[in-house]
Amino acid sequence: MTSRYTTKRPRRLILAVDGPAGSGKSTVSKILAMKLGLLYIDTGAMYRALTLKATRSGMNLEDEDVLTKLAHGTKIDLKESIGGLKVLLDGEDVSGLIRTPELTDNVRYIAKVPGVRKEMVRMQRAIGENRGAVLEGRDIGTVVFPDARYKFYLDADEKVRVKRRYDELMGMGQKVGMGDIKKAVSSRDASDIKRAVGALKKADDAVYIDTTELSINEVVDKILLYIGKWGQVHFSKK
Ligand code: C5P
Repeated sequence: MTSRYTTKRPRRLILAVDGPAGSGKSTVSKILAMKLGLLYIDTGAMYRALTLKATRSGMNLEDEDVLTKLAHGTKIDLKESIGGLKVLLDGEDVSGLIRTPELTDNVRYIAKVPGVRKEMVRMQRAIGENRGAVLEGRDIGTVVFPDARYKFYLDADEKVRVKRRYDELMGMGQKVGMGDIKKAVSSRDASDIKRAVGALKKADDAVYIDTTELSINEVVDKILLYIGKWGQVHFSKK
C-alpha cells in the first residue's frame, strides 16, 4: 500500500524539527510544544529504547531480521510528566537508562535497519496525527511527515555541538572527556548522514537555522515568528 503522506497534509498541526546531535533541537522542540499546546515527540528516544531492549537481551545487532521482528513486538510510549518526557518500553520507564554513551553509540545499528525504521515511522505518524505535535529527529521532514505544515532544520558548528553534548552529559552526572565526546559526535553524525534509509538530511522546504550563536529562546522566538504565533505565545526573555 502506498503512503498517503506523500500527497496529503496531515490533519493536525505538525512541526518537524530535524538536525544533528547538539543542534539544540530537543530543548527547542520541548519549549515549542509546551507553548503551542502540542505533543512533544522525541523520536530519538524511541530508537534509543529499542536499542536498550536489543542490547539487554544480548541480540546480534547485525541481524536485521531479528531487529525488525523485535521492533514489531515492542511497545514504546512517550508520556509527558512533571519531570519531563517519560519513555516507556513495554510499560517500563527507561528514561534514565537510554542516554549513556555506550547505548548512544549502539543506536546506529538499530537505526539503519529499514524494517525497524518502517515500524518506528508508523508509530510516530500514529502518535503525531492523533493530536498534533512537535516531532524532533533526523528524518521527520523528509520521511515521517514530508507534508508537515512547518519544517525546520537546526544546525550549529561542531565545536559548539560537542560542548553542548558535554554539558548535557555532565549535567546527568556522567564523567566524560571532551575528546571522547568529539569523536563520538562526529562518528554519530557520519553514520546518521550516510545510512541508506532515513538519513539525516535537510528537507528541501525546511527552514535552516544556524543555532551556533543563538540562545534557546532566540531559536524558539525565530520559529514562533516564522509560524505566525510569536505575538500570541511569546513570553520568553533572552
Ligand atoms: O536525537 P537523539 O540524539 O536522541 O537520537 C539518537 C540516535 O537515534 C541518532 O543518532 C540516530 O541514529 C537515531 N535517530 C534516527 N532517526 C530519528 C531520530 C533518531 O535514526 N528520527
